[in-house]
Amino acid sequence: MHFDGSEQLYERARKRIPGGVNSPVRAFGAVGGHPFFVERAQGPWLFDVDGNRYLDYVCSWGPGILGHAHPQVVDAVQRACAGGLTFGAPTAGEVELAELIGVCVPDVEMVRLVSSGTEAVMSAVRVARGYTGREKIVKFAGNYHGHSDGLLVKAGSGLMTQSVPDSAGVPPGYAASTLTAVYNDEASVRALMEENHGQVAAVVVEPVAANMGVVPPKKGFLEFLRRITKEKNSLLIFDEVITGFRLGLGGASEYTGVHADLYTFGKIVGGGMPLAAYGGRRDIMSSVAPLGAVYQAGTLSGNPVAVAAGIATLKILMDDPDIYERIDRRARTLAAAYRSAGLTVNRAGSLLSAFFVPGGQVENYEDACRCDREAFADYFRHMLERGIYVAPSQFEAMFVSDAHSDELIGETSRAVAAHFGGI
Ligand SMILES: *Cc1c(COP(=O)(O)O)cnc(C)c1O
Repeated sequence: MHFDGSEQLYERARKRIPGGVNSPVRAFGAVGGHPFFVERAQGPWLFDVDGNRYLDYVCSWGPGILGHAHPQVVDAVQRACAGGLTFGAPTAGEVELAELIGVCVPDVEMVRLVSSGTEAVMSAVRVARGYTGREKIVKFAGNYHGHSDGLLVKAGSGLMTQSVPDSAGVPPGYAASTLTAVYNDEASVRALMEENHGQVAAVVVEPVAANMGVVPPKKGFLEFLRRITKEKNSLLIFDEVITGFRLGLGGASEYTGVHADLYTFGKIVGGGMPLAAYGGRRDIMSSVAPLGAVYQAGTLSGNPVAVAAGIATLKILMDDPDIYERIDRRARTLAAAYRSAGLTVNRAGSLLSAFFVPGGQVENYEDACRCDREAFADYFRHMLERGIYVAPSQFEAMFVSDAHSDELIGETSRAVAAHFGGI
């Protein structure tokens, strides 16, 4: 493989952009080497500026459930562009997308569109505080909810492979009202809820965690969160920025049968464009301005081009619900290949992670941290050399899209076997 073009771009990029990238994990810090620069993408493939082709299991970190550049989505975007890029005034598309989200996730009676998952969770937390009149929130170590100040506490993913545990520049006061519990550990939640009785506005959780690698909830864990939040008059927020429209059309509430008060969406809901959403119970969402006293706004919120991509994506998923059966089956095949190689595999639907903790169990952040990062980096390089791009970090999910055919999954499984079989 040649990387001259990427190397030159990386050199230029590092002079003008911190670390040469616009989001830290793209810099390949955890696996060494330098990132490849993408020229274009189609279906399951990424093509870099040097003409190399990669089978892509990152899928832009989640949005790409249909594969890249799906013709119907691209067409919808192109038509929207021709009609103007942004108006700062309401459009029919926003109403349609809000209705589609509500059809897929009936708990979302009202919804607000924003531009990133970070914004969605930040806003949902503000609504929870405004609605309950309480200040504190409970989150889980290893769950990531975007990079807003109060949520950058034990936040998993990109932060697990940086030397800073959380982030400089966050005033201690912001983080002080964020209480951190242990994922899948009821006692840790109960203790915080009791110590802070009457002060917790919300428990915010990734219903299937996917930012410390994939860590599904243990049986009864989400049910417990539902019960204790009700008991303490706190709200339950499902951060479904990854799981929404991924675990099925109905996301985590359909997949697990547990229902939250507020939900956040991103990634898939924008069909590859910068769009995210938060919503839920009508009485709670009625506290958002201009109806209520919780202020939240955005110049590009509900952007017509992004909305067109979101609508087109959701409609494809709604018209062909077998997509979920297909991507789940393919993820199951991959999971089996990693298990045969002796790794610890967690999977939920089309999300999976192979942890380099042989024979172990990964149920929380501490477990995830025990994995062998050197061995992971080795495996990453081996896969990349074979033209297979998995996330450049142990703490990210592997995403299977509808463009990953059974043949391609088979090829990937063989590459896994080759690496671990020492071939
Ligand atoms: C990606 C992610 C976010 C942040 O979304 P951005 O669009 O990157 O700001 C929030 N929560 C979860 C669960 C995510 O996976």
